[in-house]
Amino acid sequence: MHQMTLAEIARGLADKKFSSEELTKVLLARITQLDPQINSFISLTEELALKQAKAADARRANGESGALLGAPIAHKDLFCTQGIRTSCGSKMLDNFKAPYDATVVSKLAAAGTVTLGKTNMDEFAMGSASESSWYGAVKNPWNLEHVPGGSSGGSAAAVAARLLPAATATDTGGSIRQPAAFTNLTGLKPTYGRVSRWGMIAYASSLDQGGPLARTAEDCAILLQGMAGFDPNDSTSIDEPVPDYAAGLNGSLQGLRIGVPKEYFGAGLDPRIADLIQNSIKELQKLGAVIKDISLPNMQHAIPAYYVIAPAEASSNLSRFDGVRFGHRCADPKNLEDLYKRSRGEGFGPEVQRRIMVGAYALSAGYYDAYYLKAQKIRRLVKNDFMTAFNEVDIILGPTTPNPAWKLGAKNSDPVAAYLEDVYTITANLAGLPGLSMPAGFVDGLPVGVQLLAPYFQEGRLLNVAHQYQLNTDWHTRTPTGF
Ligand code: GLN
Repeated sequence: MHQMTLAEIARGLADKKFSSEELTKVLLARITQLDPQINSFISLTEELALKQAKAADARRANGESGALLGAPIAHKDLFCTQGIRTSCGSKMLDNFKAPYDATVVSKLAAAGTVTLGKTNMDEFAMGSASESSWYGAVKNPWNLEHVPGGSSGGSAAAVAARLLPAATATDTGGSIRQPAAFTNLTGLKPTYGRVSRWGMIAYASSLDQGGPLARTAEDCAILLQGMAGFDPNDSTSIDEPVPDYAAGLNGSLQGLRIGVPKEYFGAGLDPRIADLIQNSIKELQKLGAVIKDISLPNMQHAIPAYYVIAPAEASSNLSRFDGVRFGHRCADPKNLEDLYKRSRGEGFGPEVQRRIMVGAYALSAGYYDAYYLKAQKIRRLVKNDFMTAFNEVDIILGPTTPNPAWKLGAKNSDPVAAYLEDVYTITANLAGLPGLSMPAGFVDGLPVGVQLLAPYFQEGRLLNVAHQYQLNTDWHTRTPTGF
């Protein structure tokens, strides 16, 4: 039962082969049995899950249908869930029970999903390895000595280990696509503004975007359908109609113009990954796609720009955690300043503190023009590169990551080494574009992802290409041993 995709579950529920309650019990038992190996959950919500499963079964018995009605999922632990701990992977919010549901959570609940729990993540979504969580590192089901990627590593590891079919995640600089690549999943970061950020605890507000992590493009289409749409509570949400993503999966790829940027294949890319990307290009050519060489000349400036902008926004967003209104408060504060200093010093881990310091520095008088303003100018150049490229091509293709998943702890003493691994993913966030990662093969037994980028609001095109690719390849069907 645990091997089923969301699409298979929807069919099974419609055909009355099993109930949502039965499936929910199987998966909850599986999580209890197997999760200690990978640490992908921060909280399990058994009671809520069984209540939602019974309600979904009753709705089906009353003649209702829907691809998500009775579907078990989990939420990354930065989506607010009413009355349930929403920790953001931080000691700071260990005691925080959200007073309301995030829009993503309430929309999916209305569609009939069953919430099995809240998944582990890098503290405040800062990281690429899911090692900085206050609740301990997440492990990669493909090799328990390796990281699952981050920051949505809990969602990714849980889906890869077949603890559940799909989960929500967020992507500020790659946190859906990179863990998807590291764990052999399909993950989609939508266009900025496509999915509401209301109730999604902010890291860098101009870059953050929620999206689905699942095994197939078809399942990403199903989950995205339940997440996307205009939300008046989010001032950056865009009022654009949401297409029927499942209906668009079967379009032909004949004549599809795929751009392959020359900058993607420079030094730093593992040559074995380069080979796998070439194989996926050949697959898509067989399906009728036409390849064009393109250039994204400002790509080399993207990492430094991102690592100024993201910390700058984070330093502002995280100022609300002051020991007064939310979360951790130090014991016996001597005065207000002592309360702020010790509450924040005790509540935030080292990577979060580093980013707050970098961000506050970049925004301070005298340095603002040199760092923050400069980074914003680079951001515009990165966006312009994409706009030029999309005049000639329909999709941009390349590796999701330069290397496969590294060993736990390997980059702990060198944060910049970890930042460099984001080279292929962060440009989409800087430009606000949609991106998808899908399985493309293995290196030393570890999964490799291929990334597709599309123009604004062309999530459907990404899902269509990925679905056609997955009808003709079987990488996405491989299961890690032991799970
Ligand atoms: N690795 C990037 C960072 O640490 C991206 C994280 C994310 O997308 N949340 O900022």
